[in-house]
Amino acid sequence: MVRIIAVANQKGGVGKTTTSINLSACLAAARYRVLLIDLDPQGNATTGSGADKHALVQGACEVLMKRVDAGQAIMGLTPVGYDLMPANGDLTVAEVSLMTALRREYRLQEALAPIHDQYDFILIDCPPALNMLTVNALVAAQGVIIPMQCEYYALEGLSALVQTIESIRESVNRDLHIHGVLRTMFDPRNNLTNDVSAQLIHHFGDKVYHTVIPRNIRLAEAPSHGLPVMDYDRSSRGAQAYLALAEEMLRREGRRGASDQAGGTVS
Ligand code: ADP
Ligand code: MG
Repeated sequence: MVRIIAVANQKGGVGKTTTSINLSACLAAARYRVLLIDLDPQGNATTGSGADKHALVQGACEVLMKRVDAGQAIMGLTPVGYDLMPANGDLTVAEVSLMTALRREYRLQEALAPIHDQYDFILIDCPPALNMLTVNALVAAQGVIIPMQCEYYALEGLSALVQTIESIRESVNRDLHIHGVLRTMFDPRNNLTNDVSAQLIHHFGDKVYHTVIPRNIRLAEAPSHGLPVMDYDRSSRGAQAYLALAEEMLRREGRRGASDQAGGTVS
């Protein structure tokens, strides 16, 4: 059974794209079949996966506008180990045209149904807004990963996202749940980070991943080389943190991690 996971937070710059790319690469390294969907008109997940967003013929925009099937808009990116449904600024056009479309919230869910059996995981990198693109991701997904930076205003924005998730669960997608809250760009020497982190655990309990992603320059450098951090510098703290996150995520899913899989097959 495919697991579809949206990486969402309407705040920009919290690590959604970094998490989407690196988690996709780690799951692929653990020999799972992974599709990463770029649902942000900024196209950062596309560029960061080594694809040229200026040379796209078809991608998430054409899928949402029903011009092509999902399968036709997927690129196999052999070096990074996962497949990509790319995006660029054209996606803004799809977002606007969806505003008046019938069953507009279901476009992505319906498009993905025929390719479910081709993947173990589908990750969706959401834009920094609670707009129709993010709603499409939340209707298509079963789980949401919420990356957040432990800083002063971080918790404020979370309630709007949590309310959106709850209303989508109550109305159109009963399967939807928060898979986990991920602390990114974490600096344990900072008192504010620790305060916000404690509040987060108080509020979300077990939903907060044990793994934290440290602030690490390699994570910021890797996208300019079009590579996930484990292909750029596997020994970096950033790479090790995302490998640990993938293991934790797989444990939550009741699936085997990379370390359990030597020579084994993936069910
Ligand atoms: P979002 O997709 O939520 O807007 P990004 O993943 O693009 O956020 O991250 C915002 C910026 O911070 C990018 O330049 C990215 O390279 C950088 N970044 C993300 N996570 C880290 C980290 N753990 N350490 C250092 N830089 C990071
Ligand atoms: Mg992003």
